Amino acid sequence: MIRDARNSGHRIFTVGVGSAVTETFLRRLADECSGACELVSPNEEMAQRTHRQFERMYPLRYQGGMTMGMETATLIINQIEWQYQKSNEPTPDRQPSLKKVGIKSMEVKCKNCGHQWSTRKGYKSGDFNLEIGHAVLDCPICSTTHTVTSKELD
Ligand SMILES: [Zn+2]
Repeated sequence: MIRDARNSGHRIFTVGVGSAVTETFLRRLADECSGACELVSPNEEMAQRTHRQFERMYPLRYQGGMTMGMETATLIINQIEWQYQKSNEPTPDRQPSLKKVGIKSMEVKCKNCGHQWSTRKGYKSGDFNLEIGHAVLDCPICSTTHTVTSKELD
């Protein structure tokens, strides 16, 4: 079974329930197929554990997704952590879909002075403000004002 699963190229995520679960088998199945294994006993919060497996399978759909690497004239954005909200729009596979509603945080680097920091929405030095169509942030070291358009961020 493990060989078949591996040959199929699928990733296997296992959830074992109950005390008689064959832990070794489930772990091996998940390990060998680059998935993950969750073991729950009947008195544990099963929904939560199962949800964790779904987060591993669909990181972009179930968590605040990440966008990597982009550059503007004055700023390097290494990572954006998006904020998502459940959407009622139907999807072909009937999984709930999430839509981007904003930005939680960004890892940015000022191209003027080389300072690198993690920025969040707010009004303190180094925080970013979201305005219509763009985000604005000041470098806390050299005070360069950086403007990033939504188009660049998306
Ligand atoms: Zn700077």
